[in-house]
Amino acid sequence: MAQSTSIQYLKGIGPKRAKSFSGYGVGTIEDLLYYFPRRYEDRTNLADISELKEGQFYTIKAQVRSSRSHSSWRRRSFSITEALLTDPTGEISCVWFNQPYLNQYLKTGSSLILYGKVQLYNARLQMDNPEFEFTGGEDDNSLNIGRIVPVYTLPQGFSQRSLRQVIKNALDEFLPKINDCLPFDLRSRNNLLNLAQSLLNIHFPQSMDLQKQAHTRLSFEEFFIFQLPLVLRKLKRKEKKGIKHTVSGKLIEDFISALPFTLTPAQEKVIGEIKADMSGPMAMQRLLQGDVGSGKTVVATLASLIAVQGGYQAAFMAPTEILARQHYDKVTSQLSGLVFSGKKIRLGLLTGQDKERKKICRQIKDGEIDLVIGTHALLQEELSFKKLGFVVIDEQHKFGVGQRALLPKKGDNPDVLIMTATPIPRTLAITLYGDLDISVINELPPGRIPVKTILFTHREKKKAYAILREELNYRRQAYIIYPVIEESYALDIAGAKKMFAELKSGEFKDFRLGLIHGKLKQAAQAEVMSKFKKGRLDILISTTILEVGIDIPNATCMIIESAERFGLSQLHQLRGRIGRGRLESFCILVSDGQTEEAGKRLQAMVSSNDGFRIAEEDLKIRGPGEFFGSRQHGLAELKIANPLTQLQLLKRAREEAIKLIPADANLSLRQNAGLKVRLLQRFPEYENFMASA
Ligand code: ADP
Ligand code: MG
Repeated sequence: MAQSTSIQYLKGIGPKRAKSFSGYGVGTIEDLLYYFPRRYEDRTNLADISELKEGQFYTIKAQVRSSRSHSSWRRRSFSITEALLTDPTGEISCVWFNQPYLNQYLKTGSSLILYGKVQLYNARLQMDNPEFEFTGGEDDNSLNIGRIVPVYTLPQGFSQRSLRQVIKNALDEFLPKINDCLPFDLRSRNNLLNLAQSLLNIHFPQSMDLQKQAHTRLSFEEFFIFQLPLVLRKLKRKEKKGIKHTVSGKLIEDFISALPFTLTPAQEKVIGEIKADMSGPMAMQRLLQGDVGSGKTVVATLASLIAVQGGYQAAFMAPTEILARQHYDKVTSQLSGLVFSGKKIRLGLLTGQDKERKKICRQIKDGEIDLVIGTHALLQEELSFKKLGFVVIDEQHKFGVGQRALLPKKGDNPDVLIMTATPIPRTLAITLYGDLDISVINELPPGRIPVKTILFTHREKKKAYAILREELNYRRQAYIIYPVIEESYALDIAGAKKMFAELKSGEFKDFRLGLIHGKLKQAAQAEVMSKFKKGRLDILISTTILEVGIDIPNATCMIIESAERFGLSQLHQLRGRIGRGRLESFCILVSDGQTEEAGKRLQAMVSSNDGFRIAEEDLKIRGPGEFFGSRQHGLAELKIANPLTQLQLLKRAREEAIKLIPADANLSLRQNAGLKVRLLQRFPEYENFMASA
């Protein structure tokens, strides 16, 4: 049997268990070896019942004295299983909720290992819902007792004991033959444990210190394999010739002097970085990070005009039609007075629904449009450019990696600017977006007053409405955001549609209300937005369709209903729709029933306006996989490594990748053979890269 063999041929796993494992991404024996425990229990020293203290977690070994199951007298559907457990030093009661079947297993006299938090209940010690397993016969004790024991997330059909046994068998059989995917030199330079030792100690640690070393080694491996393709991509880009744009010129100067504001130093700095790239011989791939409202759009517009000024076309892709239209309108007015070489700059708007689509595509193809702003529609296959020299991708997190790569392919190595309003700390960005260069706008335009964020319960909604009403009385505008279009009785949340009707004829009947959501036709959406923008609506009722980009400085108040249903970055984006002018703004989060996690999110919103801090907090709460989403990154696949807590390790892995790639991009050297195998397992697409290397 080889490591690439299906696990179903392992002793202890048949087709059925193999199937339930496949839901966890485990198909081969190697996958199984990389199926890591979620925690450990130190059973070298089990606690005596007599030494247990309230509020702490313990592992104990005890015998069942008695047990019973009954339904709650309050709610019949609710059952309670209670057992009294003893060891030579004392007794403790254990309680499980809604697992009535447990009773039949908890036979008097049977011996258990339990793990849980000890509580004081009616002056007696108790564990609620402890995890437990039977100790079984003496023979299997070597895996389950008297050592540090792994605890796994269990696929269906396994108990902790059976899974431990299966993994132990696999380790015994395969570790002696396993090939370390990390080259020896690299390991010794970085003080890394070898693979066999690491796998053994991640599953059955000989000590927690060795477990730590194993964890470091396996995390390094993940980071390293994650960095290799990024570093290779960057290297190959640097080898490819791009366009040398001429960056100074009258059009740019005129554009800047016609702006109704002066650029912030941060904007100036970033423009400098972009100009340096654009005038250089290589194609630019730059990520522009900046908080909501920091003024990224004007930077991108300016860069687009640099290309236009030199006779190239530029394309600006936004994630929604509303946003594309907004950019289009803004750039149209910014350019209205400007001529270049005696001509007007020709703008185009390309969105999916547009009736003019065919005509605009033709104009782009014939070079009759200089700057086109659009949605995903820009990616359609029929569309080709005459001379595409510059690409902007706004709100990049709304697009998949594959999509981002499509637009630049319509030109001959155009320069690319990618923008994001979900910024992450710079050091982290450098490694995570390892194939891109990075610019940061780290200040807001002057005069912005931080949005005041307030948290209310539903019972306090009248107060929220009062604040909103006061803003309206000053002739300001407001948003009310709901998580869904139609209400849901099951979840007990209000929907935008019904609340629109209700508020319009009730609470806010003296004001002009508009409704916008994703199920409206594009034309209808555009009409509502335009009315709101022109001040012909006072309140806009909306769903998260408003999340990105919308820029209406007169809107100064936002109520977000059922705020616990939104993610942190999403809340920050929503809040970014207000506080965009020189007026004080209010963001009111309305929320009741909060999980601990939701509570953290809402608190983070109340205490910070800084997008970088919010993103960091969000990363901490959700973890990198969730934060970036699987569409974004191989990051979602990190199983053991955590870029937040292991930043130094990530940096070292990146440095090693930077060292290795130029020396052996195809991984064809003998010492890199194992690495190549592992890399292709994780990133099969690397094969294509290597082919063209
Ligand atoms: P984001 O970075 O979120 O995309 P925008 O580019 O939409 O932000 O800019 C937000 C608002 O700030 C816009 O109304 C824009 O015109 C304005 N703005 C941009 N730069 C400046 C500046 N230097 N001074 C004042 N206002 C600015
Ligand atoms: Mg923007």
